[in-house]
Amino acid sequence: ESPLDVQRLREDFPVLEREVGEGTPLVYFDNAATTQTPKQVVEAITEYYYEYNSNVHRGIHQLSQEASVAYEEAHDRLAEFVGASGEREEMVFTKNTTEAENLVAYAWGLNELGEGDEVVLTEMEHHASLVTWQQIAKKTGADVRYIRVDDEGKLDMEHAKELVGPDTAMVSVVHVSNVLGTVNPVSELADMAHEHDARIFVDGAQAVPNRPVDVEAIDADFYAFSGHKMAGPTGVGGLYGKKHLLEEMEPYQYGGEMIRKVDFEDATWNDLPWKFEAGTPVISQGIALHAAADYLDEIGLDRISEHEEYVTEYAYERLSEIEGIEIYGPPLGEDRGGLVSFNLDGVHAHDLSSILNDYGVAIRAGDHCTQPLHQKMDIPASVRASFYLYNTRAEVEALVEGVEAAKNIFA
Ligand code: PMP
Repeated sequence: ESPLDVQRLREDFPVLEREVGEGTPLVYFDNAATTQTPKQVVEAITEYYYEYNSNVHRGIHQLSQEASVAYEEAHDRLAEFVGASGEREEMVFTKNTTEAENLVAYAWGLNELGEGDEVVLTEMEHHASLVTWQQIAKKTGADVRYIRVDDEGKLDMEHAKELVGPDTAMVSVVHVSNVLGTVNPVSELADMAHEHDARIFVDGAQAVPNRPVDVEAIDADFYAFSGHKMAGPTGVGGLYGKKHLLEEMEPYQYGGEMIRKVDFEDATWNDLPWKFEAGTPVISQGIALHAAADYLDEIGLDRISEHEEYVTEYAYERLSEIEGIEIYGPPLGEDRGGLVSFNLDGVHAHDLSSILNDYGVAIRAGDHCTQPLHQKMDIPASVRASFYLYNTRAEVEALVEGVEAAKNIFA
């Protein structure tokens, strides 16, 4: 049974009432790409623009002070949300997870990596981390190694032990895979990295929205997430970094707001986290992200996670009953993210998603920004249904119906 009153919660998301096509109720199963936004978060944006829209940090006037306080407190709130005790100093707002990856790759990687250093990734990394570290490695002469993914979609931890060694400088791993749903042992990987004096970056884009995350318990050096995948707005994400590391790092971008003192020769940098937020930052989005964190905490991340398991389990079982379906990732019963990726024999993922669209079901088809993983699995693409706190088992029936229909059409 689900611990959530889903029908009540759905009232917070007006978009869920809409229809698509010719009057078909929307079934939104593309939550791993972007979640829907509750009224409470939209209201935080509206309130900001109607009541105290203003630039932050520099103003003496009241609106600027109000905006500054709200924006700064949003950093404290998000730090707390992911378990960082260092408050705002350890929480940089970025555009998204991708920008957080690039920030660390440029500000830390460019300066710290060189010939002979190794960056250890996994075969299930999202392009946000894979492409970024690949290119920084090329610029610095470092080598990239990939921890193998086994047939069940789990990391081969024996291989990890072989790869992470004295030459390792950075381990960058996805917390929950956006394709396989695998929940990686990030704390164990952090210990491995630290044993060899390497740093660990955790991509939490698919973890922070739907399970309690504690960056200090994991002992992550860096941890990234996106607002638009956690009931927040687009245009904002977070980078947690251990204070001493962020302090040692060079800025990522230069300009206003990130400086303390400038003359014609040189400049010094502002305090954390502002040193990493050049120019006018993501003010309304950051404030709205605070509202999203409040919204999720009020429901309870434990309960959201339990609800997702309840829906995912059902989807997995129902889809498994269809002949010709192959589901990827760890089997049922293992700790899994709230998504199911699959293929239907003889039907291209894009055709399947197009038929599902006729049934009102929004899912994603393609390589989900993990082309190397798809190459390894020897499939051109896959279909992914991903769930959130407002999805129901009844909606899963619409998915199953659509898949059955596709099967008949292509039979
Ligand atoms: N990492 C993972 C695991 C993801 O699922 C995503 C989003 N698909 C990203 C990174 C990138 O997120 P964003 O596009 O918000 O930067």
